[in-house]
Amino acid sequence: MDDTDVLVVGGGIVGCSAAYYLARFGIDVALVERDDLNTGASGANAGSLHAQLTSRYFTEGPPARIEAAARALIPLSRQAVDTWGELARELDRDIEFKTNGGLMAAESPAEMEVLRRKATLEQAAGLDVHVLARSEARSFAPYLAETVLGIEVCPIEGKINPLLATPALARGAARAGARIHRHAGLLALEREKGTFVAKTPRGAVRCRRVVDAAGVGAAKVAAMVGLHLPGEARLQHMNVTARTEPFLPHLVQHAGKRLTMKQSATGTVIIGGGLPARRDPATGEIGVLRDSIAINLGTARNLVPAVARLQLLRTWGGESLMTDGNPVLGAVPSVAGFHLAIPANSGITSGPLCARLVAESLSGRRPSLDLDAFSIERF
Ligand SMILES: Cc1cc2nc3c(=O)[nH]c(=O)nc-3n(C[C@H](O)[C@H](O)[C@H](O)COP(=O)(O)OP(=O)(O)OC[C@H]3O[C@@H](n4cnc5c(N)ncnc54)[C@H](O)[C@@H]3O)c2cc1C
Repeated sequence: MDDTDVLVVGGGIVGCSAAYYLARFGIDVALVERDDLNTGASGANAGSLHAQLTSRYFTEGPPARIEAAARALIPLSRQAVDTWGELARELDRDIEFKTNGGLMAAESPAEMEVLRRKATLEQAAGLDVHVLARSEARSFAPYLAETVLGIEVCPIEGKINPLLATPALARGAARAGARIHRHAGLLALEREKGTFVAKTPRGAVRCRRVVDAAGVGAAKVAAMVGLHLPGEARLQHMNVTARTEPFLPHLVQHAGKRLTMKQSATGTVIIGGGLPARRDPATGEIGVLRDSIAINLGTARNLVPAVARLQLLRTWGGESLMTDGNPVLGAVPSVAGFHLAIPANSGITSGPLCARLVAESLSGRRPSLDLDAFSIERF
C-alpha cells in the first residue's frame, strides 16, 4: 500500500470529511477503512442537524454543566450547520440538505419551564431560538397534537440524507487526490524513526501523521499508541415509515421524552431519539428491541397524530461513541503526530466541521474555532 503524509483511520462522516479537507488543503492523504465506507454510525443515523441543546442537560445535569455545554456546543453547532450548507453547494450530488427549522415540544408545565430556561441560556450563547405558546405553536406546526403547551423553535436546524452525504464526501476527497482503501482495517500502529508504520491486511503504510476517526473503534486505535480515550459506545434504535405526502417540514423533538422525527425528501418519516438497540451475543449483529419500537412510535404518534396512519417500513439499530458531550479533537501532546477526530455526540451534525478543524490544524492553518475546549487534555 502507498506511503503518505497523513493517514486517516475510518471511513465514516468524520474520516471522509477529514480526507476531503486535507486533500483540498494540498496535504498528501490516504484513508483506511476496515469494512466499506459509511457502514458505521454515519450510515445508520437519523440525519438530523441539531443546534438546540438537548433538554436532558436541563433535567439531569448540574447548572455548571449546562452553562459549559452552551458555551462550547452552541458556537460548534452553528458553524457545523453552516459547514453542511457549504458542502451542499460543493459536493457532486444533492445530499438533501434542508434547514426548515427544528422545534422541541412541551406537553407539561415542567417541560415548558425547561424550554424557557433552555432558550434563555441558548440566546445568551448566541443561538437564534424562540419559545411559542400553545396557539402560536399550533399555527407554526399545525400537525402537532392538542396536548402541546408550547414549543421552542430553532430556525437553523434541519437534516441531510446520511446515505448520500458520506459517499459524496468520499468522492470529493478522491477527486481532490486522497487515496481511499476499503477493507483495510488498521491492525497495529508502530513507531519507526519518527514515522508511523500502520499495519493493515492489505499491507503496511508508512506515514508521518495519523488521524483517528474510527468512531466506536477509536479507543482501540488510540490504545495502539498507548493512549486512553474515554467514551462509551451506545446502541441506538431507529424507525422509518412508508412514504406519504409532505406534511412535516421541521425537525421535531420532545422536551421530556426521547424523540426526533422528520420527513425525508422521498416522503418517509424517520423516527428516532436514542432509545436502546441490542447486539446479538451469538453473531455480534446489531438488532432492535420490541420495547424501543413501541415506546418510540407511541411518543411519535401522540405528538404528531398523523403518524398513526403510516405503515412502519423498517427498524434498525446503530452504534456510536458518546463522549462527555464535546468533541475530542486535535493533536495529542503525549504522542507526536497522532491526532484525534471524535465528533460531539450529535456527530452527523458536527462531523464535517470537526474534521475540518483537525485538517486546518494539520495543514498549519488557524482552526476556525478554538480547539482548546475540545482537547484530550481535559480528561
Ligand atoms: C442510530 C443513530 C442515530 C443517530 N442520529 C444522529 C442524528 O440524527 N444527528 C446527529 O448529528 N448524529 C446522530 N448520530 C450520531 C452520528 O451518527 C455519529 O456521531 C457519527 O456518524 C460518527 O461518525 P464517525 O465518522 O466518527 O464514526 P463512524 O460513522 O462509526 O465511522 C467510523 C468508521 O471507522 C471504521 N473503523 C473502526 N475501526 C477501524 C480500524 N481499526 N481501521 C479502519 N477503520 C476502522 C468503522 O468501520 C467505521 O466505518 C446517531 C447515531 C446513531 C447510532
